[in-house]
Amino acid sequence: DAFSSLSLKPELLSNLGSLGYEKMTPIQAQSLPAILAGQDVIAQAKTGSGKTAAFGLGVLQHLNVKRFRVQTLILCPTRELADQVAKEIRKLARAIHNIKVLTLCGGMPFGPQIGSLEHGAHIIVGTPGRVEEHVRKGNLSLDDLNLLVLDEADRMLEMGFQDALDAILDYAPVDRQTLLFSATYPKEIEKIAADVMKKPVVVKV
Ligand code: AMP
Repeated sequence: DAFSSLSLKPELLSNLGSLGYEKMTPIQAQSLPAILAGQDVIAQAKTGSGKTAAFGLGVLQHLNVKRFRVQTLILCPTRELADQVAKEIRKLARAIHNIKVLTLCGGMPFGPQIGSLEHGAHIIVGTPGRVEEHVRKGNLSLDDLNLLVLDEADRMLEMGFQDALDAILDYAPVDRQTLLFSATYPKEIEKIAADVMKKPVVVKV
């Protein structure tokens, strides 16, 4: 279960070594081959399983840094989780220069987020309500999005983000990769999966 068995960019691989990530966790070993192959993946995994690095490595492997457009959107249920995810992605991206990760969360002032969006970003990590508002108001374009991550999807639904999620999905290009992480797998998640994912690979640990 060495990361070196994957076809990761060499700079990502060597950075994993310096972070002390020696072996893949079970969720990483089971999901990364499909994620790196560009497939849609549904993964049932809890916090602490290493799920953030699983999708984070997929995000960083597929990202074109030279193209300064929002290519990845990661949706999370809370600001705390969004901050944690952004932190882990920046850590994993340390060896790739000039990657811009921007967080857009509810409960934070709106105006400064517009300013940050004007400066541009490759990766947005945010909560559905606030992201939807920026997209609806034309501050954030999803036209170049090629990877969408729904992190802790079950909690997003519990928190009432279904409508915001549906609206965001309406703006997102159909031709994209979608990764869905959830600790539980209720009927509502099954429905989202059936609606928005293409032949998803299902992984449980
Ligand atoms: P997560 O489940 O994404 O919240 O990750 C839990 C913790 O495990 C985080 O602090 C990660 O930095 C760490 N981690 C993730 N993958 C690995 C790995 N392969 N080896 C060692 N630590 C890891």
